[in-house]
Amino acid sequence: MKKKLFINGKWIEGKEYEELRSPYDQQVIAQIPLADKQEVEEAISSAHRAAKVMRELTPLERSEILEKVSDLIKERAEECAMILVSENAKPLKAARAEIARTIETYKFAAEEAKRIHGETVPVDAAKNGKGRFGFTKREPLGVIAAITPFNFPFNLTAHKLGPAFAAGNTVVLKPASQTPLSAFMTAKIFEEAGLPAGALNVITGKGRTIGDQLVTDARIKMVTFTGSVPVGLGIKEKAGLKRVTLELGSNAAVIIDSVDDLDAVAARCAEGAFNFAGQVCISVQRIYVKEELFEEFVEKMANHTKELVLGDPKSEETDISALIHPAETDRIESWIKESVEGGATIICGGKREGTVFQPTILVNVKETDSISCKEAFGPVVTVNPFKTWDEAIRLVNKSEYGLQAGVYTTNIQKAFQAVDRLEVGGVIINDIPSFRVDNMPYGGVKNSGVGKEGVKYSVEEMTEVKFVAFKL
Ligand code: NAP
Repeated sequence: MKKKLFINGKWIEGKEYEELRSPYDQQVIAQIPLADKQEVEEAISSAHRAAKVMRELTPLERSEILEKVSDLIKERAEECAMILVSENAKPLKAARAEIARTIETYKFAAEEAKRIHGETVPVDAAKNGKGRFGFTKREPLGVIAAITPFNFPFNLTAHKLGPAFAAGNTVVLKPASQTPLSAFMTAKIFEEAGLPAGALNVITGKGRTIGDQLVTDARIKMVTFTGSVPVGLGIKEKAGLKRVTLELGSNAAVIIDSVDDLDAVAARCAEGAFNFAGQVCISVQRIYVKEELFEEFVEKMANHTKELVLGDPKSEETDISALIHPAETDRIESWIKESVEGGATIICGGKREGTVFQPTILVNVKETDSISCKEAFGPVVTVNPFKTWDEAIRLVNKSEYGLQAGVYTTNIQKAFQAVDRLEVGGVIINDIPSFRVDNMPYGGVKNSGVGKEGVKYSVEEMTEVKFVAFKL
């Protein structure tokens, strides 16, 4: 019940503790240490000392550790899934899916560790380069601070630890306050897999209290952050010359222009909008449907939505459970109220059932309504008709975010136009914007962030290119 900080390869009792409650039934599930300044300092200095050890491991040794981590998570997949159920109210089906992806992410990292290399540079193509040989190599940065959100606590942590260790860095991990148990489990698994002491340190506590110390310490060379825009902006302002990657929010949109099977698309949109109660950064939030298909689409999507099972995350049947915090339920409710007062119609949902909010479809929502232009991060989707293709592209782009967008069209020219014209980090043709596998480049434009994840791409962010010239 009483958890410990993981610093320099040792499990250390905290000086102060707070209760961790399960979001679904509000039961106390653990006592979590709140790291103080001295403990954060110890975590940073142990990561700093271990940087030399990690740097000297061969690519094969790093790869073997990551491979072992992947295997150990596979062995304990059900135990890991149950952690997500209790600390995150993630329905068991979705929890198992996250663990399956986490196993794969560490596997990708194990493979990537073996192919981090530089390139030769034809310096003698320049007048002054005659008689010289040039090449680059990629070196680890040193200590990386990883700050993670609550919504995919195993897999989004894997997206930081996997590439960081593949490249020979060390890490101080600060998980979200609501999801520390997955971080402790991850540390336990790395310990068993033989990661050198100090290479991974896990400190828990409020981000607003301990975050600044991590972000401003000169020994930390990079901050890799996934979370909300305000926190990300604050980190960027304070980080000085450190490298910073920010994986932030979005209000992802999908255009439905022309399709062969409207029912299958409606089912997929319901899945993308309501998976983990919409608490996914690429959750489907805005759907723009060609005018002729609009009514039929809304009816079909409502039918699929009504089939979703609400309730206890422990149940095999549950599709949607509690939002992470009761305040989030209040916020969603007030945003729906604002839209309805402005003329929107609720097609289904719109109410809470205990701690769970019903999956909700809204039509005729104004572009300026909070539920459309801000990040919903809840089980609500807006569906509006469009008349022309240009209008659809304009509506998707009229957002302060730009993570991914989906486009359903049977017209190849429109598909390529969408690729060129949509202001997002990823365009998904004939599927929803929520498509993600863990080796693809992933990261947004505009307020959705800076820098890419996806193991190979994170390795690029987490290494320094050193250039070497030999005078022959
Ligand atoms: P959040 O409130 O921004 O928290 C993220 C992390 O930042 C937590 O560990 C939090 O700690 C920490 N933090 C808070 N204040 C801090 C500070 N002043 N300095 C340093 N760290 C601080 O986000 P969340 O609610 O956990 O996650 C939801 C957000 O993440 C959504 O906006 C979602 O779109 C985004 N997200 C983006 C991606 C992506 O890949 N683009 C993926 C998943 C989620 P505490 O928990 O202790 O406050």
